[in-house]
Amino acid sequence: CIFCKILAGEIPSTAVYEDDDFKAILDVNPAARGHVIILPKNHAANIYELPDEDASKIMIVAKKIATAIEKAYHCDGVNILQNNGEAAGQTVFHLHVHVIPRFKGDTVNIGWKQGDMPEDLDAICKEIQAQL
Ligand code: AMP
Ligand code: ZN
Repeated sequence: CIFCKILAGEIPSTAVYEDDDFKAILDVNPAARGHVIILPKNHAANIYELPDEDASKIMIVAKKIATAIEKAYHCDGVNILQNNGEAAGQTVFHLHVHVIPRFKGDTVNIGWKQGDMPEDLDAICKEIQAQL
């Protein structure tokens, strides 16, 4: 796994933050200047495999990085993004959280066409709740 190799120091990276559980590095093909990805030190391929402890801690790291990015670049916004599965745009199968600075009128494309309101909201709710 390429991110495990980065975490082991076998592949170079530019770390902006590190603690016992995570390393946050600059994305080498950034969507914008200052695009950071946060990597858990313990390999989990995706959010389904991520231990609860890492899941809860990683958002605190994302908050820390987002706050620093906002101060550094005076950006108009920040996206926190995490892809699971090829269909969702995941290309590296070691879970990571993107922190992406955003500027009014930039060309970063994270969006979707809003659908019509479903007529069966209750059914959808039950479909999900049945699996919780
Ligand atoms: P995702 O598409 O969510 O799986 O994101 C993978 C991200 O990892 C992409 O934004 C890549 O640019 C980034 N990436 C891939 N290899 C490296 C690397 N060696 N160092 C830093 N970032 C990387
Ligand atoms: Zn890994």
